[in-house]
Amino acid sequence: MAAGDAYLTRRLRPFTTTIFATMSELAAATGSVNLGQGFPDTDGPDELREVAVAAIREGRNQYPPSAGVPELRRAIAAHQQAWYGLDLDPDSEVLVTVGATEAIAATLLALCEPGDEVVMFEPSYDSYAACAAMAGAVPRLVRLHPPDWSFDPDELAAAAAGPRARLLLLNSPHNPTGKVFTPDELDQVAAVCAAHDLLAVTDEVYEHLVFDGSHVPLATLPGMRDRTLTISSGGKTFSFTGWKVGWVCAAPALVAAVRAVKQFLTYTSPAPFQLAIAHGLGYEPPVLRGFAAELAAKRDLLCDGLAALGYDVFRPAATYFATTDIAAVAPGISARDFCLALPERCGVVAIPSSVFYDPADPAAGRNLVRWAFCKRDPVLHEALARLTSWEP
Ligand code: PMP
Ligand code: GLN
Repeated sequence: MAAGDAYLTRRLRPFTTTIFATMSELAAATGSVNLGQGFPDTDGPDELREVAVAAIREGRNQYPPSAGVPELRRAIAAHQQAWYGLDLDPDSEVLVTVGATEAIAATLLALCEPGDEVVMFEPSYDSYAACAAMAGAVPRLVRLHPPDWSFDPDELAAAAAGPRARLLLLNSPHNPTGKVFTPDELDQVAAVCAAHDLLAVTDEVYEHLVFDGSHVPLATLPGMRDRTLTISSGGKTFSFTGWKVGWVCAAPALVAAVRAVKQFLTYTSPAPFQLAIAHGLGYEPPVLRGFAAELAAKRDLLCDGLAALGYDVFRPAATYFATTDIAAVAPGISARDFCLALPERCGVVAIPSSVFYDPADPAAGRNLVRWAFCKRDPVLHEALARLTSWEP
């Protein structure tokens, strides 16, 4: 029995400790290079840190409004307009949350009745299944297939046609695969939402970390504006993952529903960081594109290095993460066992992608490992050098 199982409710028992906590602890305990949990090893712009510090000194330290400080809500609305042409009322159509994590939890708790089905792609970010479980909702999984992580449209249509299907949860750019859903795929997603009257929830936290192609919010597709809740966060865009400033944008009635839950989860989000992220959202497009270009070079460094070591690499179009098939390098070993052995044997930590699949299907993602490349170049070189000592 894992720690926590004695008291944890049955519906949450599969979710005792996240893989990210486990692997970051293992990295610290073994002195490993941590390519597991997705956080950069350098902070974002100094200027944003200074805005946060100034806000603390100026006394912006008491509860801000539950929906978020007006400066940030206006900045989010202006960002959606400038980047995507989406017109939002900052008072009724924007809600600030404690990271995208709270946005996802509050949205599922607000919109799902027990027994409702949530259509989502698999592999999927680990909090989706956990938050669905909190809401008593049931994931309906649609498999993404390597190498391009495409899906079978019939499988999507069948999942969306279920009598209890309530909403579709899309994550593009996608963690863990780094996939950016294509315009055709987005059309298919929009079509099934319309055909079955599903709400759409989109997690777009990697919207500015796209290297190949471009990010198209689902809410911009015809007919989707009023049935889509768009979730994002400043953590990834600005390399401040510890600030936990996220948001939800949607039509007023949907935002009101999510706000009702958010006010009893956390009521509000830390004020000084909201002001700093508001400042960052005002950066001109070349500044944000510059962040992505730096990261693209790191993607290439890590992917080329892993390929040279014999890994079968699925080069991501976006995000912090590259996926590899380890079968050639570690024949017969599951990704889980490989990732548990790697810190001790090579001094490197990575994430077994099998954790992003339904535990009822142990073969799913069995050979897949996710590596984070949002690290300084010398750290990536060091990891690659250490990996040369792996022997099957
Ligand atoms: N969604 C996805 C797809 C993620 O990878 C993450 C992790 N950063 C989150 C949500 C959580 O974001 P936040 O740190 O803003 O809560
Ligand atoms: N999103 C990060 C990742 O996928 C982890 C965030 C967390 O630890 N919950 O690595």
